[in-house]
This record gives sequence, C-alpha cells and structure tokens, in this order.
Amino acid sequence: MSSGTKKELFKVRFWGARGTMASMAPNTPRYGGNTACVEVNCGSETLILDAGSGLRLLGDEIMKRVKRSDAAGEKRKRLNLLFTHCHYDHISGLPFFAPFFDPKARIDIWSGHLEGPDKTERMVLNYMRPPFFPVGPEVFSAKLRYRDFEPRDVLRPCPGVKVSTMSLDHHDNCVGFRIDFAGRSVCYITDTTHNPEAIDERIVEFVRGTDLMIYDGTYSDAEFPQFWNFGHSTWEEGMRISQAADVKRYCIFHHRPSRSDAALDRIAAQCKAKFRRSYVAYEGLQLKL
Ligand SMILES: [Zn+2]
Ligand SMILES: [Zn+2]
Repeated sequence: MSSGTKKELFKVRFWGARGTMASMAPNTPRYGGNTACVEVNCGSETLILDAGSGLRLLGDEIMKRVKRSDAAGEKRKRLNLLFTHCHYDHISGLPFFAPFFDPKARIDIWSGHLEGPDKTERMVLNYMRPPFFPVGPEVFSAKLRYRDFEPRDVLRPCPGVKVSTMSLDHHDNCVGFRIDFAGRSVCYITDTTHNPEAIDERIVEFVRGTDLMIYDGTYSDAEFPQFWNFGHSTWEEGMRISQAADVKRYCIFHHRPSRSDAALDRIAAQCKAKFRRSYVAYEGLQLKL
C-alpha cells in the first residue's frame, strides 16, 4: 500500500505488439513480430494481458525473477493472466509459458468474453487438444485457477488493484480492461471496431481521464473502408477517443502483420504531430505510470 512518500511502482511493458498473426520479418527488427502480450506491474504484483506469442519470452523473464526471489527467501506472488478474448493472436503463447511448469507457481487465468459455465477452463481445453496441439493443460504443474467473469464486472485480482471490464465490438466478443492502482490507471482496449460516423461513447466514458490508453490501431483511416468489417479500429480513432476522453498518454497497439518498422515510424510521427504524448508499441517498450 502507498506510504504517501514513495510512489508505488506501476509499469507497463510490451512483450508482443503485433495483431492478427506473428510476423517475424527482416523489415520489423525494432517493433518486433510477436503478438499481443502486455505485462502490468502493480507494486509487487504482476498482471498479464493476453497470451499472444510474446508470452513465451515474458515467461522466461518471470522464471529468472522467481529464481532471484527464491534465493532471497521472498514470498511467491500469484500471477494473474487476463484474456480479452481467445483469437489465436491472443492465446498462441499459452502452452509455452514457463511458469505453468513450475509446481510452486500459482496462476489465476481470467476470461469473460464467452458464454456459459466454466468458460475459462473450456477455452484452454479447447485450445490445447489434439489434433491441433499434442497435449492438454494437464501437463502444467503450476496451481491454476480458472476464473470467469461477465463484461462490466469489477475484478479484484490482488490487493489494491481494481480491474474494470467492458465488452468491445469484435467478432466472437472481446473485453476491454481498465486497471486502477495507487491513484493511477491504464486502459487496454484492443480488438474493437468503430463506426466512422460516431465516436464510441461507451469507450470514451470507460477510459475517461486515464493515464494511458493502449488501443487497437490495426488500420489507418485511409485503409478502414476496405476492412470495416474485420473487427478492428484505426490509430486515428484511438487518437480521437484520447482527445475526447482527456486521456493523458496514448499508445497504438495491435499492428498489422505487414506493417514495416518504417511504416510504423511514419504513423508515430503523424500521431505525435497531433497528440504529443503518443507512442507506437514495440517489443520491450516500458511505460511508467
Ligand atoms: Zn487480435
Ligand atoms: Zn480478435
């Protein structure tokens, strides 16, 4: 809890910023090709948003930290992995997350986009099964808890952390998150489309005043007419929402597989010219809140 003198650590780190599918290509060495995975540190707690291919590298990093804290005799923390939805680009890293194979790890997996009972467990069982994958989650040795919620629920995954949720406009449903901790907040709004005629007031209200909004900038406004029914939005729409909702910092996320580093640099410059405190997510980008 906040002592009032020292600002508590609240930090976001991108392990995968690409959408749709992983794309390792010679023209994307800086932004990277791994798909959606964002680590959020709230004090000593770790939340993970989505399990795209970036999750594998985060898992290796977490195991290094665990080794250090075990050596120092520190108490182990529970990890919380929150799914927006389970399209492949948001789940493909799941079977390769090293902490799942650590018997001392305690991991809560959350989802709210599907219907019916036991939806989070069903999601994992359906993803990890032959003939698409050789083994099921029974190979994991960590203590797992599957935790279901409904969009609009407020989650309390760990002390001092409040996670608000909302449903987004996406094929097969998707959930947006707002994480509030120590008087600051970050919003994760990815895999959502928009109506070019009218701003999405639900999102504007949800993200109002946040310190950082991460948003689905898959397309540009110029590309959007061609892809209007693909379930994604534009980086310009994220900027308009940021302006309307008094968002302090805005981060473009979920890049098209075909976007080169040069193309993303151009988007970054165009966006910054209109919204100074904006970023284009890349693997390794860390933002302190
Ligand atoms: Zn996606
Ligand atoms: Zn999706």
